[in-house]
Amino acid sequence: MTDVKTVIAPLPPNSTIGIIGGGQLGRMLASSAARLGFRTIVLEPGADCPAAQTTNRHIVAAYDDEQALAELARSCDVVTYEFENVPLSAAGYLENLVPLYPPAQALEMSQDRLLEKQFLQRSGLEVADFHNVELASDLIDALRDFGGGILKTRRFGYDGKGQHVFNSADIDVQSAADILTQLGGGPYVLERKIDFVSEFSVIAARSVAGETAAYDPSSNIHETGILRSSTVPANLTDEVADRAGVMAATLLNALNYIGVIGVEFFQTENGLLINEFAPRVHNSGHWTREACTTSQFEQHMRAVTGHALGSVQRHHDCEMINLLGDEGLQIEHYLKQPAAQVTLYGKSEARKGRKMGHITKLL
Ligand code: ADP
Ligand code: MG
Repeated sequence: MTDVKTVIAPLPPNSTIGIIGGGQLGRMLASSAARLGFRTIVLEPGADCPAAQTTNRHIVAAYDDEQALAELARSCDVVTYEFENVPLSAAGYLENLVPLYPPAQALEMSQDRLLEKQFLQRSGLEVADFHNVELASDLIDALRDFGGGILKTRRFGYDGKGQHVFNSADIDVQSAADILTQLGGGPYVLERKIDFVSEFSVIAARSVAGETAAYDPSSNIHETGILRSSTVPANLTDEVADRAGVMAATLLNALNYIGVIGVEFFQTENGLLINEFAPRVHNSGHWTREACTTSQFEQHMRAVTGHALGSVQRHHDCEMINLLGDEGLQIEHYLKQPAAQVTLYGKSEARKGRKMGHITKLL
């Protein structure tokens, strides 16, 4: 048995929180930590990362650099992360030195779409039908079963990357093999293509004491696999929204979770399916900063430092719109919109489709 460290008492002001990953989520987490009187140290290999501009200290090192991880553990009272691809070896190493929240199991389950779906099913939560795919012959069998489907790499996919849509089962072995190669190596899952009524997500949290809270669901629009906008309230009946909140809480409890989680849903004619979950604050929850008593970022900081969760009460309807690529350079345009609250992530290069910032409009 390893001796996993846990936070026993709530951490006092000026305690230090480690954040693995220095993107926009780390940047906004660090700002919220500062607002609560905590200090942060970000571990991230990119010297000019978005979070470097808002954190007290930046350790520039690879995520699996043991010396850097040891330094992070020594310097922090608790460590968290802003992305789900933290190497499991790093998480395992860290959690014997310092409390690591959310727990490593959440990382393990969300890093591999097959394990994630199996875990959801074991927890009594519904997902789209799927097959594990390793060989071209597996792909052909799976496509025949579903009459098409969405092929996804089990690991490292994000913003729709590592996916291929099949509208029919009509494919030969060579083409199947070529597509597997193009996606950059397996293993994969083939999912049944869901004819959803809508996509929405629930941002929820669980504290050290086991208390859970869920924000109102947001309706999400994706373009080419990338989140374009989130609107609250979602276009759901109260009954469906409540059911989604219960499903998120079931997942949090099954993972023995501490922190904020983002759970993506498909609403179908036959009920709710969970598409995937992210063991971190989530793009579709950015609106909570402007429209709720407690933002998802503060909520995460409260949870990982052993404090009580804050109120998830929403005081406005709102819409969050991502600024992608060049849109992130048009600051004048957005600053002139009276209803828009503008957030930019401080990225120096506006590559196509890259998340550069977002605006929240209170309605
Ligand atoms: P990512 O990790 O890139 O966010 P997702 O699995 O969430 O990957 O897929 C991205 C988007 O692709 C989803 O938000 C949804 O719009 C669409 N999609 C994914 N899986 C399915 C499916 N089984 N049926 C229909 N659409 C899907
Ligand atoms: Mg997704």
